[in-house]
Amino acid sequence: MSSAIPLNVGIVRSAAGDADAPKRVLLAEPRGYCAGVDRAVETVEKALEKHGAPIYVRKEIVHNRHVVETLRERGVIFVDETDEVPEGALVVFSAHGVSPAVHESAAQRNLHTIDATCPLVTKVHQEAKRFARDDFDILLIGHEGHEEVEGTAGEAPEHVQLVDGPDAVDQVRVRDENKVIWLSQTTLSVDETMETVDRLRQRFPNLQDPPSDDICYATSNRQTAVKAMAPECDLVIVVGSRNSSNSVRLVEVALSAGARAAHLVDFAREVDPAWLEGVRTIGVTSGASVPEILVEGVLELLAANGFGEVVPVTTANETLVFSLPRELRAARA
Ligand code: SF4
Repeated sequence: MSSAIPLNVGIVRSAAGDADAPKRVLLAEPRGYCAGVDRAVETVEKALEKHGAPIYVRKEIVHNRHVVETLRERGVIFVDETDEVPEGALVVFSAHGVSPAVHESAAQRNLHTIDATCPLVTKVHQEAKRFARDDFDILLIGHEGHEEVEGTAGEAPEHVQLVDGPDAVDQVRVRDENKVIWLSQTTLSVDETMETVDRLRQRFPNLQDPPSDDICYATSNRQTAVKAMAPECDLVIVVGSRNSSNSVRLVEVALSAGARAAHLVDFAREVDPAWLEGVRTIGVTSGASVPEILVEGVLELLAANGFGEVVPVTTANETLVFSLPRELRAARA
């Protein structure tokens, strides 16, 4: 995990809940779109420009209601599986990645495919393939049913076991305790993942670590920023969708880092006025699939309720950009 260096965490302390303290917002930086989401959304937009509507996208391109609804209005048809796509049509694979079986099924239906899988997810796929080739048991830490986990596990189903948190460690069975490696979903809680790894290592002392961190820079950076501000916050509002793993993790991280309350909202209209009663400091952040316009909506609503002062809490600067999939590269402005 990229270690974020605190850059601007000089938060003026005020006792949480102090009725005389000024009302203010602490705004996490970094927040919102990561490089993989930016690329995936632009992939669909460029595909629409180049090929015209309708185009098909397997699963939600990224886990955000606003993004999905906006693209649907522009002519994108979201499907669960490739067998819902007409023969020969264009389908985009989402940022979360797909298993080889999905590629095969698309090829059988003569579909034109554009793969918007985040390169950092592809990296975990490559690790799974490599360690399966070397006949390791691969313990994949992740959430059961999440699309990314299904895609990664599908690279080597006979070698991969899912470990869904520390409590699942006791059920793990391996063939050779000296040939075991752990990998992980990219959007987990950093702390909970290390707890799971510690438990796994108690059982398998020779457990091998991944060649590089699987939890991505964007996930860990957003958690670091939330941890920096949470102890000062009476309330943390995370903008993000319920099916967005990294957004849900931000709520958990805020609470475990000392925020008195934390809530996930898709839109400003979901902020319950009761949450603001007796509150002086509100932390605001957003998941990696959230466009900034949704954060602006929340900030406007808070300003209208007396929270006009906004103090940035910066723990990292992000500059990573991924190039578009090959088929669309010439189309990037
Ligand atoms: S959260 Fe991380 S792995 Fe997922 S799309 Fe963004 S950069 Fe890629």
